[in-house]
Amino acid sequence: MTQGTIFKIKRYALHDGPGIRTTVFFKGCPLSCRWCHNPEGIDPRPVSMVKASPEGAVHETVGEVMEVAELVTAIEKDQLFYDESGGGVTFSGGEPLAQPRFLEAVLDACNRRDIHAALDTSGFAPAAVLDRLLPRLQLVLFDLKIMDADLHRKYTGVSNESIIENLNRIDGGLTPWRLRIPLIPGMTDTQTNLEQIARFAAGLKSIQGIDLLPFHRIASGKYRRLGLADPMAGIDPPSPDHVAAIKDRFESTGFDVSIGG
Ligand code: SF4
Repeated sequence: MTQGTIFKIKRYALHDGPGIRTTVFFKGCPLSCRWCHNPEGIDPRPVSMVKASPEGAVHETVGEVMEVAELVTAIEKDQLFYDESGGGVTFSGGEPLAQPRFLEAVLDACNRRDIHAALDTSGFAPAAVLDRLLPRLQLVLFDLKIMDADLHRKYTGVSNESIIENLNRIDGGLTPWRLRIPLIPGMTDTQTNLEQIARFAAGLKSIQGIDLLPFHRIASGKYRRLGLADPMAGIDPPSPDHVAAIKDRFESTGFDVSIGG
């Protein structure tokens, strides 16, 4: 039986693709972005988090091993909402491409049920994995963080070489896709990086639009609950004016741009 590890299933999600969606968070990510908003999803194994309760602090395990059929049953529960809203399921994480066999089996089941399937990915995966999964997807939300290779490695722990290669693969294919740019103060939202991304995006062929994802502080409590220091302590979210100016910059070159996905 093909099994996978999931750390959250979010129902009625509105920012992970079109319509009303169920977002499934796959556990495990090969990156370690300084700003990660899902630090509980990086380790591929279940992890322990402290949770407040009326009896005081208790430990809860985050991460659950699931069978394909079990996950598909959970996804199917809201098929009525998907059908009425033009929604579906979005696989996020963590990095779903890090569990390729499980993802493939779940995608096949969703395709058989005519459930719209989207993938939210860092793009860091072997090209063969992407080639196998792309025909099973109806939408890809592809993160592009930093163009400079050294800065990418510094802030995410990995090279961006395979990410850029995979991005070009997607752009040459038939699966609809959007670019997602996290706006992290001083790391990804610098003028140099955004101009480099804009120049790169101008050469893309099948991109459908750009989602800007401004940094927020919601994850700081998760670091505390994991017993980790918050790597983004003291860093404020970008101002609405700054985000609006970046949106204008990308819109001026003809892109459909959303804030927050
Ligand atoms: S790619 Fe996403 S899940 Fe992985 S470390 Fe970066 S922000 Fe976190």
